Amino acid sequence: MATPAALQAEERLGALVSVLDVVRTKGAASRGHLSDATGLGRSVVAQRVAELAERGLLAEDAFGPSTGGRAPRLLRFRAEAGHLLVAALGATSADVAVTDLAGGVLAHREERIDVAAGPDAVLGRVDELFRACLAVATPAGSLWGIGIGVPGPVEFESGRPVSPPIMPGWDGYAVRDRFAAYGAPLWVDNDVNVLALGEVRAGVARGHEAVVYVKIGTGIGAGILAGGALHRGARGSAGDIGHIQAIDQGGVVCRCGNVGCLEALAGGAALARDGEAAARAGTSPFLARVLAERGAVEARDVGVAASHGDPASVELIAEAGRQVGRTLAGIVNFFNPSLIVVGGGVAAAGDVLLAAIRETVYRRSLPLATRELVIQRSSLEHGGVIGTAAMVADQLFAPRWLARWLDAGTPAGLAL
Ligand SMILES: [Zn+2]
Repeated sequence: MATPAALQAEERLGALVSVLDVVRTKGAASRGHLSDATGLGRSVVAQRVAELAERGLLAEDAFGPSTGGRAPRLLRFRAEAGHLLVAALGATSADVAVTDLAGGVLAHREERIDVAAGPDAVLGRVDELFRACLAVATPAGSLWGIGIGVPGPVEFESGRPVSPPIMPGWDGYAVRDRFAAYGAPLWVDNDVNVLALGEVRAGVARGHEAVVYVKIGTGIGAGILAGGALHRGARGSAGDIGHIQAIDQGGVVCRCGNVGCLEALAGGAALARDGEAAARAGTSPFLARVLAERGAVEARDVGVAASHGDPASVELIAEAGRQVGRTLAGIVNFFNPSLIVVGGGVAAAGDVLLAAIRETVYRRSLPLATRELVIQRSSLEHGGVIGTAAMVADQLFAPRWLARWLDAGTPAGLAL
């Protein structure tokens, strides 16, 4: 049985988190608005606001609009109280930044990497980029947390990648130990999860409760937002739709070892493979020229060819869109999202892909499931770092972690 004192402490912490979450994720608010949004009484809100202000997490801001009487003071989240180091890794790219606690980018570096080079090489480079960013960012507060997004399944509790198909050498790797010298808590998440979080905080998914973010890059994966929060599943693998079986015969072998996976049919690597085959077969003069010049065809070449009207490339991309659409139709029936966001390098190729996905999803899903469904392209250029920062902040300010550092005034040195 919890003692009355323990219950009171839990209630106080819950109220602190509720008040802070509204201001942190939805923007500056008056005490009255906070009371409405959290369901807490005005006096409780006033006490918790005072406590958060004393800890340097909230500050009085401008006056809000008056609703008759005196205009209320707005409270804002002090995003400058600390800073975060974040790295969003894809199969072939690293997007690294120093951000404030609200995901505002203070310094940023982006470069091409090969995640298959292994964790020592890749994270060594990330470490160098962190230091390069810190050298120019001059953040106000101390380092409060580190976040890393990786293109593979992650066991969220331990922060370790688990059997990632495109990341040889990363299985079970202790990412936290690698950055222990920074003395700040570190979380690792799947790249698509953080992209989804970025869209709901700062992009097209703002205000949506049920969202699926589909990334079509080298591989295919999805992030799921339920009730406005990330749904990672029991161990962290929710949304790995690239390895759902899309066809049952005559399929190609996937990198995961199975046959007929969606990713092996419609991902960027599959498009490159099929584009190169079209170049060799003589059905695409455009791609044949690319192959002759560079010795290989990449997924982006197929996208460029399609945007120039190359019929074979248009058909390859449309077929990839239909494959993705068929899998998404099942997910729409099951989960009933109000928004599907399509992102990743292949999605940037043009409208053919999005049109084929839309047409297939609307045709194959239940009418009630698609009544309010919107399918659109991702809106954020640096959604990975914005989302990774949001992922870290969400952990720092979650009850279980906040309870452990609030009295110290900073999560620096917090051991996970
Ligand atoms: Zn697979």
